[in-house]
Formats: sequence, C-alpha cells, structure tokens
Amino acid sequence: MNAKILLLPGDGIGAEVVREGVRVLDAIAARYGHSFCYEEGLVGGAAIDAAGTPIPDETLRKLKTADAVFFGAVGGPKWDHAPVRPEAGLLRIRKELGVYANLRPAVLFPALASGSPLRADVVAGTDLLIVRELTGGLYFGKPKARDATKAVDTMTYTAAEVDRIARFAFRAAQGRRKILHSIDKANILETSRLWREVVTRLAPEYRDVTVHHMLVDTASMALVQRPTQFDVLVTENTFGDILSDEAAAVVGSIGLLPSASLGDAPPYFYEPVHGTAPDIAGQGIANPLGCILSAAMMLRYSFQLEREAAAIESAVARALDDGVRTKDLAGQSGVSTERMTNAILERLPRG
Ligand code: NAD
Repeated sequence: MNAKILLLPGDGIGAEVVREGVRVLDAIAARYGHSFCYEEGLVGGAAIDAAGTPIPDETLRKLKTADAVFFGAVGGPKWDHAPVRPEAGLLRIRKELGVYANLRPAVLFPALASGSPLRADVVAGTDLLIVRELTGGLYFGKPKARDATKAVDTMTYTAAEVDRIARFAFRAAQGRRKILHSIDKANILETSRLWREVVTRLAPEYRDVTVHHMLVDTASMALVQRPTQFDVLVTENTFGDILSDEAAAVVGSIGLLPSASLGDAPPYFYEPVHGTAPDIAGQGIANPLGCILSAAMMLRYSFQLEREAAAIESAVARALDDGVRTKDLAGQSGVSTERMTNAILERLPRG
C-alpha cells in the first residue's frame, strides 16, 4: 500500500523517538512491499523558535493532506513562559483532526514483571485499554482565564460527546474481554453525573459487555491494588491523562506506552504517551518503544495492516524477552535509543 505520513517530531526526546519509529516503518515497508512517504511539520517549542507560534499554518495545511500523523512530544522549560505554550499546538491539532477517542493500551510484557513497582503477583497479566475522551472537558472548556489573583478552568461535556466516546469504548470492550469500567466523579461533578447517565442509557445496546461505574479516586487506588480487574476503562480527558500515566508506571515505564487518537474520519493521530523528558533529552537514551508501538497502532488503525502491526509488537516482546532494555528499565546497564531500535529491527520477520 502507499501512504503519506506527516511526521511532527516536536521537542526533546519527541524528535529522538520519532526518528526511531520511522526506521521501523521503513523496515516494514521494505519487508512487506509498502511505500510510506513522509512529510515533516513544525510543532511545539521548535515551531515557536522557528515561526513564533506552536502551530504554524503550514503545519495545519499539511494535516489536511496526510493519511496519518505521527507525533513525538512537545514542551520544555525553555518555553514554559512563552505567551502561547508549546502544548497549545498539540491541543489545536487534536481539535482540528477531531480525534476524540484516545486509546492507551497498558500491557505488562511478561519479561518486565520484576520491573514494576508492584509485586510480580499483583501485576502479572495486566492488559488494559484506557479510552480517554480527548477533545472536550477541562482542557478545552470555556471560560478559561486568569489574572494575578484568580484562575478559571471549565469542565464541560455534552451528552453527544459522552455518547460517542462511550460507544467507542463499548465496541472496544466487545473486541476484548467484555468488561467496561466507566470512570467518573459522579458524587461531586455535574459533568460526571451526565457521563454516568449516558453510559447507563447505552449499556442495554451492548448486553454482552459488563459495565462497572467507578469513581476516579477509587479507580486510581484499584489500578495499583488489582490492575488485572480492568479490561477497558473509559473516562473524560483529565482523568484519562492522569490514570494512563499511573497505568504506565504499573507496567514498568512511561517510555513503553503507545497511543492512537481516532475520530470519525482520517487522518488519525499517533503518539507515545510520554512527554519531552528534558532530564534525558539529547543523551540518546530515551526508550523508543512507546513510539515504535504507536507506529504499530498506526499500521493497524489507519492502514489495516494487522499482520505488520503484530510483527512489530512481537519483535518488541521478543527483544524484551531477550533482555534488551533501555536505561529507564535497566538503569546504567541499559542500551541506547538506537540500539533498542536495532534490536527490534533484528527481530522483525523478513516479510
Ligand atoms: P515526561 O513524560 O516528559 O517525563 C517524565 C519522566 O519519565 C522523566 O523522568 C523522563 O525522563 C521519563 N521518561 C519519559 N519518557 C521516557 C522515555 N521514552 N524513555 C525514558 N524515560 C522517559 O513528563 P514531564 O517531565 O512531566 O514533562 C516534560 C515536558 O513534556 C513538559 O514540558 C510537558 O508539558 C511535556 N509533555 C508533553 C506531552 C506531549 O507532548 N504529549 C505529554 C506529557 C508531557
């Protein structure tokens, strides 16, 4: 197949891991007879430095002609006091693309069971999918304002927004172990009460799925007490952001987690869950696996290349089984970003 992929590397380790993801995509293209062509765009701090805005018009134009968007991460201390912060570029892209469903799988690779901060018997078998609402809630609600003594953020959800993300999650659960936890704060928040009502109303349409409603504070506790009880979790934007970092820690490192952001029509958006990691940027030691696994999700969801996606995922599992680890997983004995990717390339099938 032929596909045009827009690369938005961004800042810090974002650029370092996207480079590795492209090496894996190129290997897949060569081995399975596909042709991926790449365009590159500026976003985040890099775009502020080059063009004075975190999301130049040129990048917005490129979004419209891409088949899929492959993103690194944006932000860093250098731009913390910029009039418009780098993260605004990312939020604008999500909104422009209408990618309201952010899928964040957190799977424990058996080889990493001893690397979890949790006991191996607690974490063994963890395989969950967080479906995070991505284009609403606190991150987008208006009014949003501050002056010297007061700040306002607004959490808004419409029933239609909850309906579409909940349906997405019900369908995802149908394709997995058929357990759906809907996470909210319905004891306090009006938006959560609406959320719970909509999910409850939809449940009879998906009778094969068992639905549990759970408060977000309880869910954050349950994730570390018994992560294996979860299959699919669906939740609003902010709760999903926080719980997915927690899930990342449970399975070993935030550097491992991929994500796909989908909407009603392509192009869809793929990025590792982590940020720009200013503490390790420029050292060539970032874990590229979250980004490489995001490339696998792109092959699966944007291009329906299931065999190729599975080939990447199994190469990652085998590299970890063989003991290859970056420093976030192995400390000083860990390998570089580039060598981790080499280990994946060596374990990809010939096609
Ligand atoms: P972070 O995810 O960048 O880093 C948190 C910790 O995890 C750091 O110790 C870092 O070294 C480590 N880490 C993260 N990814 C890693 C990887 N691939 N390999 C090895 N170690 C890894 O989060 P942060 O430090 O809170 O944020 C840093 C910057 O990134 C901030 O400017 C923040 O706004 C931005 N950020 C951007 C995104 C995004 O673009 N999607 C997401 C989160 C944070």
